[in-house]
Amino acid sequence: MRSPNYYAAPGFERAGLKRREPEWIRARVLDPASVFVPVWRSQNLVIEVEDAEPRAAVLTVEAVGSLIGGLSEDIVEERLAHGHFVFLGLIDERPHFALDVSAHETPLDMLRSPALAAAGIEEAGVRFADLRQLAGRLDRHEGALLALARAMMFWHSRHRFCGSCGAPTKSEEAGHMRRCTDPACATMHFPRTDPAVIMLVTDGDRALLGRNKNFIPGMYSTLAGFVEPGESLEDAVAREVREETAIEVGAVHYHSSQPWPFPANIMLGFYAEATSRDITVDYGELADASWFERSWLLSHVDDESFRMPRRDSIARRLIGDWLAGG
Ligand SMILES: [Zn+2]
Repeated sequence: MRSPNYYAAPGFERAGLKRREPEWIRARVLDPASVFVPVWRSQNLVIEVEDAEPRAAVLTVEAVGSLIGGLSEDIVEERLAHGHFVFLGLIDERPHFALDVSAHETPLDMLRSPALAAAGIEEAGVRFADLRQLAGRLDRHEGALLALARAMMFWHSRHRFCGSCGAPTKSEEAGHMRRCTDPACATMHFPRTDPAVIMLVTDGDRALLGRNKNFIPGMYSTLAGFVEPGESLEDAVAREVREETAIEVGAVHYHSSQPWPFPANIMLGFYAEATSRDITVDYGELADASWFERSWLLSHVDDESFRMPRRDSIARRLIGDWLAGG
């Protein structure tokens, strides 16, 4: 069996049924055993000191209390209703919550002693960072936990009002649902994850790779795109490849998937066999697209002219497994 992609197989129990036990959730927010994963405007709190890989920084309930000026049952209730606390699940029986600190302009200042001291964290090297910039250097379980926390908080930030009637919404189920507060509407809104297909197109011993305009210099990757309404995944693969390169594909085979909370996607990885050869690049989307020989890819070392996609990406995985004959 293949090993999971980065950000998948998080190593925690979501304990979804517990979300519907509001008293248990409220008690856990005040429980000294609970762990809080702060999120500030889609950034995660990490510790990075010299000569060591970054780690996730998490807070104790005491630290959370000093950060938000005290925790009472009323405050917990109110914060839960805003979606400022989201129950993520259990790790070794310990409840984990995402904590939204986006309302603070300078949360690191708020988090300086005593909040960090209460959490047993040294101030040096602590910062809020974009998970993408850490590029898979975090332990995979920590990466998955921070990705989930970030994704949930992004969803809450974009669903404060009902898409049906425009009234404010309120968080329920420990942050896993928002309900419209207008009783005549009461529409329920659930966290979204939008599917995108990502595919390595091959023609015998050649693979089709493209450069997006926004890529770092030299980086080539697999083609990718969003699944549109009314479209099967196979249709989406064929359409995206055709739109971006004018290549037609025949057989499409599923490989694996990867949660991609940047901001709210799941990447569905495929191999697709080309049935045509001549590339016409859509320069609206891509800067370049070409066929690359397997032997060339195997011998090339990343440089300014060509580099592989990031190690934490499913794109890299699709290419790597193909090169390895998988
Ligand atoms: Zn509504």
